[in-house]
Parts: sequence; C-alpha cells; structure tokens
Amino acid sequence: MDDIVKRVLVIGGGIAGITSAIDIGNAGYEVVMVEALPSVGGRMLQLSETFPTLDCAQCTLTPRTVETGQHPNIKLYTYSEVVGFEGEPGNFTVTIKRKPSYVDWSKCTGCGTCQEKCPSKVPSAFERDAGKGKAIYTLSPQAVPNKPVIDPDHCRMLTKGKCGVCAKVCPVEAIDYKQKESFFTERVGAVIVATGFKIYDKTNLGEYGGELPDVIDGLTMERYLSASGPTAGVVKRPSDGKIPQDIVFIQCAGSRDPELHKSYCSRVCCMYTAKHARLFKHKVHHGKVYIFYIDIRSTGKGYEQFIQQSVEEERIVYIKGKVSKVFQDGDKIVVWGADTLTGEKIEISADMVVLASAMAPNDGVKSLSETLKIDINEFGFFKEKDYKIASNESSREGIFLAGCCQGLRDIADTTAHASAAASKVHVLFEKLKNRVETKAC
Ligand SMILES: Cc1cc2nc3c(=O)[nH]c(=O)nc-3n(C[C@H](O)[C@H](O)[C@H](O)COP(=O)(O)OP(=O)(O)OC[C@H]3O[C@@H](n4cnc5c(N)ncnc54)[C@H](O)[C@@H]3O)c2cc1C
Repeated sequence: MDDIVKRVLVIGGGIAGITSAIDIGNAGYEVVMVEALPSVGGRMLQLSETFPTLDCAQCTLTPRTVETGQHPNIKLYTYSEVVGFEGEPGNFTVTIKRKPSYVDWSKCTGCGTCQEKCPSKVPSAFERDAGKGKAIYTLSPQAVPNKPVIDPDHCRMLTKGKCGVCAKVCPVEAIDYKQKESFFTERVGAVIVATGFKIYDKTNLGEYGGELPDVIDGLTMERYLSASGPTAGVVKRPSDGKIPQDIVFIQCAGSRDPELHKSYCSRVCCMYTAKHARLFKHKVHHGKVYIFYIDIRSTGKGYEQFIQQSVEEERIVYIKGKVSKVFQDGDKIVVWGADTLTGEKIEISADMVVLASAMAPNDGVKSLSETLKIDINEFGFFKEKDYKIASNESSREGIFLAGCCQGLRDIADTTAHASAAASKVHVLFEKLKNRVETKAC
C-alpha cells in the first residue's frame, strides 16, 4: 500500500462521535461522519440537565453540534448508514446509504413553516411517551443540520395520497414526495465507531409494571424535565396529564439481573436517578420521592457529594432493597418491596414510577459488526482489543471504538474515550507512513 488516505470515517454522531470528529478535524484531517438519525447529538440531545453539576445539557452540546456542522474538515451524512466496507488500514472504501427525507435539503432553508403547518400529530420516538411530534420534523429546535424529514409511516400524503400541506406552504419548493434513497462512496484510512446505546424497552419489565402508562423510563423522564421538551419542563402523568406528587424511582430495572435481564451494571443510572429526583423536587416542592436501590455506585468526581446532597438537602428517601411487584390500583401505582436493612416489607402508593432501565447496545450493531468485520461481545457491545490497555481498539487494525458502543459510561468518560480514539488515528497514520517508508528503503 503506497497511498495512505488521511481521512477518517466516524460512525455515529453522539457526543462521542462529534468529540472524535472535532479533534480529528482540528488536527487537520478530513472526517466523514455518518449518523443514522436526521441530526447529530445522540442521546444527549434528549437530556434535560446533567449530573453532577446540573447544567443544561443543550448548553454543553449545542456549541459542539454547531461546530461539527460548520467545521471545514467535517463532511456530514445524516439520516444515513454504512452498507459497504472494504480495503485495508490506510485505504478503506465505504458505501453510505442515505434514506429519503422527502425534502430537498439543498433547497430547504430550515424556516420551519412546513413543521408548523403540518396537520398530523404523530408518535415521536424522540419525545418518547412524553409527547407527540409532527409528520415532518427536525429532532430539536437546534438541530444540526437544521433540515426536516418526513416520517413515511405517518405522513398523510405518503400513506394515503392526500394532504400535501407541507409542499403547498414551502416557500422554496423543497418537498419531494418521490425522493428515493441515495448511495455515496468515500475513501478513508481509518474508522471510529461511536454508535452509542439504546434503552432496554420497559415492556420487557413486566415485574416493574413496564406495561402501565404511568410507569415510565429515565429517558422519558428527561423529556418531561426538559425546558425545551413537549411539556416545557412540567412533569406530568402520561395517562391523565396530572402533576404527580408521590413518585417512586426503581434503580437497576433490568441491569444486574442475570436471571431475567442484563447481568451488567449500566453505570450511569445511580447518578441520573438522583438527578431526576432532585430536579423533580425543584419543581414539585412538597412532592415525596422514594428511590429503591441495590447499592449506590457514585464513583465519578463530585458524584458521592451529589448523592449526599440528594439525601440531606432534598430529603429524598433511599430504600435499600428490591421491588417485588408494581401494579395499578385505581388512580395509583402500588409498589411492593422490602427494605433489606430493616427487614421490613414496604408498600408505597405512588402517582408515577420511573424505571432506571438497563442500557443496551444500539439497534443494528450486529449487522454493522459484520459489515466492518469487527467483533462484538456476549452482550452485543463492540469488543475491544484489550479492556485494560486498548479499550479504544477494535479487533481489526484501523477501526477504533469510542463511547458507549464499547461499554456504558457517563459524558465525562465518553468524551475522554472519544478524544483517545482520535489520537489513536493519528498514531495509526504515523505508523502506516513509517511502514511505507521502510518498505521503500
Ligand atoms: C436517562 C439518561 C440520563 C443520562 N444523564 C446523564 C447525565 O446527566 N450526565 C452524564 O454524564 N451522562 C448521562 N447519561 C449518559 C449519556 O447519555 C451518555 O454518556 C452519552 O450519551 C454517550 O454518548 P455516545 O456518543 O457514546 O452515545 P449516544 O449518545 O447513544 O450516540 C450514539 C449516536 O450514534 C448513532 N448511531 C447508532 N447506530 C448507528 C449506525 N449504525 N450508523 C450511524 N449512526 C448510528 C445514534 O443515532 C446516536 O446519534 C444519561 C443516560 C441516560 C440513559
């Protein structure tokens, strides 16, 4: 191999992917970023405030998503996936498939009129159970790129051939109901995989009332708590819109449960549950908050103090014990559990229950591992070359791992991991250059 292509493919545009991409772009290499959703930002786009400082997630994230969108060295393919991959370190060829958005992004100015006038209110995966979206949408008001897509399963024009409001109101005639998927080829010398995680579906958690409407998961709670969310930061019960007063949080819902669910610890739930409890108390001052836990894992900087403040200053009641049953009783959700410190049985009649559900590898990880020819572990996370000393390296030379796709971690650890992956790329390019020069001598 004589030619080293000093360009990098980053798969996944969450905080891990954008951190790696900005570092690599700033080092002077070109980046091709492929993101499955219409815009970059990942799960952090859905968060309200972040532990341990309780600062606004979007205030941290938006400058980075904007920089990604405007960076002269970063080429963005959103609403896209990698479908073909061949070659060797220093010289890979990638095939990228872009889904039809039914909007010509080269014409669209991002004015938002189409979204405002769209008559279809539809379930929104982004807002989860907390609210609905439109059939033509961007993920958030600060979306990067700020270009909408049409949901083909709910758009009246695409499903029934009737409506066309978005096309009528678009001032630049950007709506294209006939748009098809498109394919692109790019050459790169290295790859960083940063595909993140998903939340284990609450319907798997029948023992915790996962099928009940007023039993929600942590990510849905983030949307309720978010000032830019569908309820403008007011926590409401999904069933009737009432503001809950008594609320129970259940940690390790599906994590650390080898018999029924995932045997691993999801690593951030102890902290985000304390965060949710505190933010709820800031909004509903007289509300009562109970947290069931197995033990508290608060190992980050300032994390233990955050938990202590939750108990001492916010008067959140921590109950060490497992929950045995959650069921609906009239207007209330009843939680049965045991306090393992006192041996007492506990029964709490609550208005709402929040599950700190397990986090799992994202959809499509298996097929991506086959396309890239890299290994995954028994839980479906990408497998590192060596957990202790090479957690950024995949099982194949030239392909690196960043963030939660390799193992679950908070934002601080994710960005450190992502910057480490970026520096590994630089090392690879130098190593390949030396190989070529040695061969030439
Ligand atoms: C409820 C909740 C609250 C949290 N609160 C906090 C907090 O307060 N503080 C904190 O430090 N941490 C918090 N976290 C953890 C934080 O969300 C993660 O650390 C962070 O999101 C990890 O970033 P990531 O980029 O690795 O993954 P993600 O954020 O999941 O991003 C991955 C990206 O890859 C994309 N993708 C997936 N598959 C593909 C594919 N095949 N092709 C292309 N793109 C793909 C996804 O669409 C996504 O955009 C919280 C987590 C949860 C669940």
